[in-house]
Amino acid sequence: YFVEPEQFGDEEVIITGQDAHHLVRVMRSKPGAKFIVSDGEAREALVELVEADSEQVKARILEHRATTAEAACRVTIAQSLPKGDKMELIIQKCTEIGAVSFIPFQSDRTVVQYDSKKEAKRLERWSKIAKEAAEQSHRNRVPDMKPSMSVKQLVQAMEQYDLVLLCYEDERGTQIRDVVQPYATKVASVVDKGEVLIIVGPEGGFTAQEVETFVNAGAVSVGLGRRILRAETAGMLALTCVLYETGEMG
Ligand code: SAM
Repeated sequence: YFVEPEQFGDEEVIITGQDAHHLVRVMRSKPGAKFIVSDGEAREALVELVEADSEQVKARILEHRATTAEAACRVTIAQSLPKGDKMELIIQKCTEIGAVSFIPFQSDRTVVQYDSKKEAKRLERWSKIAKEAAEQSHRNRVPDMKPSMSVKQLVQAMEQYDLVLLCYEDERGTQIRDVVQPYATKVASVVDKGEVLIIVGPEGGFTAQEVETFVNAGAVSVGLGRRILRAETAGMLALTCVLYETGEMG
C-alpha cells in the first residue's frame, strides 16, 4: 500500500482513500494484520494495523526496510499511442519490470486520435494500473504518468535524459546493446545510474522523417534484434535490456 510522504511517520503511518477501503472492506484486515507500506519515494516499512474504519487506517511501524525495489537507472517509456487497450498492458508490464515514468505520444502513424475530453479519464485509469502493478511488484514508487505529447513536445522533453534510445525496426547498424553496454560501463561507478528515455513507435512504425527528427535531436536509433516486435512488446524488451546492462539483474 502507498501512503502520502507526510502520513509516513517514524512510528506510525496513516492510510486513507482507496487503500484504506481496500484494507478494511476488501481484505477485511483486523488489528494485528501485517502489511507493507511505502511512501512512493524511498521509504518502506512492515506495519501492523492498530485501528481502522473504512476512511482511515492507523498502523504501527514494526520495521523500517532499507532495501529498495527501485532500479538505480531510471527509465522512461515514451510510447506512441497503440490501438485498443494495449497501453494498459504496456504500463502494467513495464511497471513490473521497473520503468519510472510513461509518456504517451502522438506520431504520424498513430491510429488512435487524441481526444482532450477523454484524456483526464484515460490518465486516471493508467495511473491506477501503474499503482496496482507497483504494489504487486513491491515497488517503492508509483511510476509517473505524463499527459499525451506531440512529437515536437517529446523532442523538447528529450533534454532531461542522458540517453535517448529510439527503437527502430529498420535500424541495420546499431543494436541496443552496442549503445547500452558502454553507457552502463560509464555509469557503473555512479550510485544514481542516469535517466534513460526509450521511444517506441505505433503499429505502423515511425516515418523516415520522424526518425530523422529524433536522431537530429540526439536520440540514438537502435534495433532490438532481427525480429519485428509488436508495438506493445518493444518497450518491454528495450527496458529489460537497459536494466540488465546497468546491473539490475546481476
Ligand atoms: N505491425 C506490428 C504491430 O502491429 O504491432 C509491428 C509494429 S512495430 C513497427 C512498432 C514499434 O516497435 C516500432 O515503431 C519500433 O519502435 C518498435 N520495434 C518493433 N520491432 C523492433 C525491432 N526489431 N527493433 C527496434 N524497434 C522495434
